[in-house]
Amino acid sequence: MFKTTKNVPFYTLGRGAFAQMGDLLAPRRKEGGPVVFYVDHYFEGKAEVRKLPLEKGDQVIFVDTRHEPAVEDIDAYAAALKASLNGKLPACLVGMGGGATLDVAKAVGNMLTNPGKAEDYQGWDLVKNAPPYKIGVPTLAGTGAEGSRTCVLTNARKRLKMGMNSDLTMYDHLLLDPELTRSVPRDQYLFTGMDTFMHCMESLCGSYRNVIIDTLSKTAITLCEDIFLRSGDMMEDENLEKMMIASYIGGMAAGNTGIVHPISAGLGVVLHVPHGKANCYALSVLGEFYPKEYDQFQAMLAKQNVTLPKGLCRDLPEETMQMLYEGSIVHEKPLTNALGPDFKKILTREKVLDLFKQM
Ligand code: NAD
Ligand code: ZN
Repeated sequence: MFKTTKNVPFYTLGRGAFAQMGDLLAPRRKEGGPVVFYVDHYFEGKAEVRKLPLEKGDQVIFVDTRHEPAVEDIDAYAAALKASLNGKLPACLVGMGGGATLDVAKAVGNMLTNPGKAEDYQGWDLVKNAPPYKIGVPTLAGTGAEGSRTCVLTNARKRLKMGMNSDLTMYDHLLLDPELTRSVPRDQYLFTGMDTFMHCMESLCGSYRNVIIDTLSKTAITLCEDIFLRSGDMMEDENLEKMMIASYIGGMAAGNTGIVHPISAGLGVVLHVPHGKANCYALSVLGEFYPKEYDQFQAMLAKQNVTLPKGLCRDLPEETMQMLYEGSIVHEKPLTNALGPDFKKILTREKVLDLFKQM
């Protein structure tokens, strides 16, 4: 009847806040052990990495984000780290990147203090032992992964994409420096930023509601409208900061998705379309379910001069189309949230296949 909710206890926000990293690490270092940084591979050789306050024994591990993190990746990262530390724990883990890298550091942390394999912890409240202290540094805003209690991992063997949902998965401190997002390509910036818009509008359009989540969702949507519709360019200084805040607030509200995320999951699992872009494809054919948000999204694309190429599911074999259908309709909880328990009467197989064909 009563739900206890955890939020990330500390954040440091502002342009240039990245320079605070050394200060944030100092108290951790007193406890002994190195600091291990998981950094998006985009930053390899870049100035930001040279600015990391490295000390003897620290490690910087670049995360290849060309594909979304899989359970095997986490097992490999955790095994390599354990071997290099001879059974000792790091003083702190830092995740620095977009949703994928933020999730990698969260998941590796859990695997340092819990036995078995990453897939054993895909689900709700399965993590038992507290991981090392973690600092999250987003360099791409929108997924809300910096503030959420999950880390999404693909599991090809079980054909699912699921996180380690646990209070222990969460970061202990966030370093939110909008300057870090300036180098994101424009289309990627919009697609990932839209993840916040989707989480929040799907929540507000659904039936699973509460006042706190509604309030956070409305605030994050207002920020998205400011960034992508009302002000000048989505990547001007003020908007970089607003997007970082929208992502953080939206992340606190995320959880009750609707039709966009199930359709997006089908595209992700079957065609490996990245999460943010797949959401955009989904909303681009869901105008009859989300008329206002569909119009807003089209206006945002036009205003920011970003295009979503047509023909994504053109000429796909029948078998692949069936997999797309199955990979979407399996998400009963969000579809029930959006359409009620009889959602399959509305989203018939024919209807779902038609949506994919329109992309
Ligand atoms: P991402 O982390 O996959 O990164 C996308 C691309 O942007 C990569 O090529 C990366 O190299 C690049 N990039 C990142 N920062 C950059 C920068 N500052 N400059 C230039 N390039 C940069 O993308 P994402 O959309 O942030 O995250 C998607 C992932 O997040 C998926 O794996 C998804 O499952 C996960 N996710 C997690 C949660 C959660 O609550 N944990 C929620 C939603 C999505
Ligand atoms: Zn999402």
